[in-house]
Amino acid sequence: MEVELLERRDNELRFIIRRVSTAFVNSLRRAAIAEVPTMAIEDVVILTNSTVLFDEIIAHRLGLIPLTTPKEGYVMPKDCVCRGSGCSKCQVRLYLDVKAEYPMVIYAESLLSDDPNVRPVYGKIPIVELEEGQSLVLEAYAQLGLGKEHAKWQPVSACAYKYYPRIDVRSDLCDGCGKCVEACAKSVLKLNDKVKVADILKCTLCGDCVETCPKGAIEVNKVDDSFIFYLETTGTMTPEDVIIKAADVLIDKAKRFVRALEEAA
Ligand SMILES: [Zn+2]
Repeated sequence: MEVELLERRDNELRFIIRRVSTAFVNSLRRAAIAEVPTMAIEDVVILTNSTVLFDEIIAHRLGLIPLTTPKEGYVMPKDCVCRGSGCSKCQVRLYLDVKAEYPMVIYAESLLSDDPNVRPVYGKIPIVELEEGQSLVLEAYAQLGLGKEHAKWQPVSACAYKYYPRIDVRSDLCDGCGKCVEACAKSVLKLNDKVKVADILKCTLCGDCVETCPKGAIEVNKVDDSFIFYLETTGTMTPEDVIIKAADVLIDKAKRFVRALEEAA
């Protein structure tokens, strides 16, 4: 297996992964989306709410605010010594106490946390708008969870892969008419006397160039064991951490499978 980094920017990561099967790369994608433990608000105790929104709507909005997930220090409630009833190892308290003296918007940054490592990723997510005299007082409890249970525990906002493309231009057939260069919506090809590949990574394997070429000089194929993997996180953790934890999930599953097999034998 070979990994080549293409791009790393803010919460985004793009890399090439070679000499793996489609099943493997798809497992990695699914684990990243659905099985990497991520922090999100699960329980909310509303003490005062004189805003225009119902308690349930506010609780739902709080659940969808991405929180930073520390690398270590917390366990899933079901694996905790407290057996999920809630303790400092499996949950974090956040609180909000606002009384509006003038019309205002409450943003995520007003949510204060008992643990500075678990806080809203983006401060400017609006929670609710208050009129003068209205107030909102609540306690919220965040815990680790999995994306397969609820999308609020999904660490990635985008996670996908595509086959690595391969474009062959037969120079004995190509007469340099340039029709394929015009047909390509992604500017993958360029004309340099004969048609050449300008940027292979942009190719989506749509095949427009193949259909347009009057001479049949172009062939577009996928490379069976190479993929371009892209992911963007919600900011809850770095994309590298998501991929590493997704790989850990797969390793753990393989180990459990082997153990079960040994026990059955
Ligand atoms: Zn606990």
